[in-house]
Amino acid sequence: MAKLLKILDYSLANKAYSIKNTEQAILDANPTYLKDDWDKSCFNKLKSSIRKHYARRQGRKCAYCRITINPDGSGNAVEHIMPRIKKPQWMFVLHNLSISCINCNSSKGKQNTMRQHENNYGHSPNHCPNDTIEFKIFNPHFDKWSDHFEIQDEFFLVPKPNTKGPDTYKFCNLHRYIIVLDYIDELKIREKSFKSITKRLRKEKRVHVKEQLEIAKEAILDMIENN
Ligand SMILES: [Zn+2]
Repeated sequence: MAKLLKILDYSLANKAYSIKNTEQAILDANPTYLKDDWDKSCFNKLKSSIRKHYARRQGRKCAYCRITINPDGSGNAVEHIMPRIKKPQWMFVLHNLSISCINCNSSKGKQNTMRQHENNYGHSPNHCPNDTIEFKIFNPHFDKWSDHFEIQDEFFLVPKPNTKGPDTYKFCNLHRYIIVLDYIDELKIREKSFKSITKRLRKEKRVHVKEQLEIAKEAILDMIENN
């Protein structure tokens, strides 16, 4: 799966959006104190630029699950790695921003993604930490995806133990078997993936997991039959 990992493994290190002077003036004039400040119309143009920038820099992939997203980011969420309900002051901090699919964004929701601060007073509202260690979950600005996740048996996204993978998996509910489907054609692994899912289905007992696997299996079968 080395080829797939290579496709999935973009990095945002040193590729954060850079705020233009005119945009900075708008931000200075409109400090954000409440999560809904995000919806102020004065930020619309900036949000659209941020969405386009990250969609391109992330190679059209969700920050977490890596499913493909629209080229201009439309229909996808500007993702606040630390949710804006928790830290509204950080909603335009660039290393707290990326783009994600709606599923990851809504699964993550309002959960606190920062590690407990050493002094127990929490992180300062005026300073979003610029360091991977402070984030409990994967942050594409600092972390390498393949250090935290792997693809097993030609199909299954699996978090690596003792990394940020398990927390990210839980926060984003990455237990969704549609992710690798986007890359199956590019990698020419339809048959291998189909076999892998069929094998997993035989031993899987959990009903909700079986349902997801059946959906993925049907989708691959359609791809094979319509080729
Ligand atoms: Zn996602």
